[in-house]
Amino acid sequence: MRLCSFRGADGPVPGLVEGDHVVPLAVADSLDVVRGADPVPAGEAIPLADVLLEAPILPGNALAIGLNYRAHAAETGKEPPEEPVLFAKMRGTYNRPSGPVIHPEWTRRLDYEGELGVVIGPRAHRVPVDRALDHVFGYLCVDDVSARDRQKSEPQWIRAKSGWGFMPMGPWITSADEAGDPQDMRIRTWVNGELRQDTSTEDMIFTVAELVSFASHVFPLEPGDVITTGTPQGVGVGLDPMRFLQPGDIVRVEISRLGAIEHEIVLP
Ligand code: MG
Repeated sequence: MRLCSFRGADGPVPGLVEGDHVVPLAVADSLDVVRGADPVPAGEAIPLADVLLEAPILPGNALAIGLNYRAHAAETGKEPPEEPVLFAKMRGTYNRPSGPVIHPEWTRRLDYEGELGVVIGPRAHRVPVDRALDHVFGYLCVDDVSARDRQKSEPQWIRAKSGWGFMPMGPWITSADEAGDPQDMRIRTWVNGELRQDTSTEDMIFTVAELVSFASHVFPLEPGDVITTGTPQGVGVGLDPMRFLQPGDIVRVEISRLGAIEHEIVLP
């Protein structure tokens, strides 16, 4: 299934994407479906073109992984880590797939990070690697927007990684059965139509199963929690010369079988 959330008159409405239409669901929230509720239709299908997609889920926790592709570690001048590097995205980062992303006045080095996001299904606490994928509900595209100057100048990455709207995600959650092998997806990022990132998820240092298992040994992962699994090479800070996002830029992240998200960078 492709589980989405779209803007309704009284707030977000959960839906199933079928072809180029969305079918509203008779549940309060997309999280109910992630928790196992039947996705029962509650109305007529609506053309996707006529709805504004919201973030398909509002996770209780959003974890992110640093330096999970060798070539990306190299472009940032770092050694590949021996264990996953975990950090958090605060709730204020959650953003619809179309954004926009506000360019804060406190950074001059705003950057994109196209990433595969993992949505947890059944609660995962201290799960072994070989059972970890049983705890994945599905996958989506994420832009882990980053303020590089603040990432470098501050010991905690809260400002660097958790500016308002710094986590566009979607366009919907593709369930694990339809998404297929998470280590066999092509992930591409464009800025203003120029291809910047183009890598297979098979190049991850730590697999999705390893990341879910690792994080589940830190604290219990609850249904709807999201782990965004790190970005491949080709970020703006890794280019020579470096190129950062400016108001008016359009970032597009596309992943095999999951669709694409596209958002503009705008002035505050
Ligand atoms: Mg990242």
